[in-house]
Amino acid sequence: MIKLDKVSKWYGEFKVLNGCSTSVAKGEVVVVCGPSGSGKSTLIKTINALEPHQEGEIYVDDVAVHDKTTNLPALRARVGMVFQHFELFPHLTVMENLTLTQVKVLGRTKDDAAARGVTLLDRVGLRLHADKHPGQLSGGQQQRVAIARALAMDPIVMLFDEPTSALDPEMVGEVLDVMRGLAQDGMTMVCVSHEMGFAREVSDRVIFMDGGRIIEDCTTEHFFGHTHTLSPRAQDFLSKIL
Ligand code: ADP
Ligand code: MG
Repeated sequence: MIKLDKVSKWYGEFKVLNGCSTSVAKGEVVVVCGPSGSGKSTLIKTINALEPHQEGEIYVDDVAVHDKTTNLPALRARVGMVFQHFELFPHLTVMENLTLTQVKVLGRTKDDAAARGVTLLDRVGLRLHADKHPGQLSGGQQQRVAIARALAMDPIVMLFDEPTSALDPEMVGEVLDVMRGLAQDGMTMVCVSHEMGFAREVSDRVIFMDGGRIIEDCTTEHFFGHTHTLSPRAQDFLSKIL
């Protein structure tokens, strides 16, 4: 579903991604972790070309992201993205947040979009909040709306960038529960996260990054079960957060 082949990216002189290669199969859940500044956010933003890269190849569902002729808006419409800060439209209701791009980008009728919105609000446990504005919801509720909004586009892949790290601790669980449900339903997911309990329980693979490189890319079982075989940097990281 996703393939990165020797992807490098620079910000000016600074090499932020250094020869990153990996692939994600359909239905796979991959957690990306690593120290702050290691390039995790940049890596997942290159997948849907929110950030351009200068070297290497990226494919999403066999579409070549690096190819200048690729229709990037069409690709982005199929890749769901959820950020640390929910980035909902504050002046729209929850339901309007869910239906706007369905109508504008997918060309659905308002009724079809609203029906899909209701189904998704049910799924994230927020059906009764459809007419509220984001500012009237808790952080955890807003993040669940953001996930529902991404799902409303029927994405083929979901990318998450630290979706729980801006939340109060008591709200982390409700967001991880929604993500766990998505994983169980077979969604292909790449999640930047430091929630190691979630990684251990839900992910199939773990990628550990440091200094713009992918240092570890292994099964979850191996990452947590054979820690002593990991690189010193990964061991050091784990010792600090576990
Ligand atoms: P992470 O998500 O792992 O914390 P990022 O991908 O956000 O790391 O950033 C990786 C490195 O790239 C950091 O050193 C950061 O300062 C730098 N960086 C990120 N965005 C920009 C930018 N727009 N311009 C210049 N440097 C950036
Ligand atoms: Mg980041």
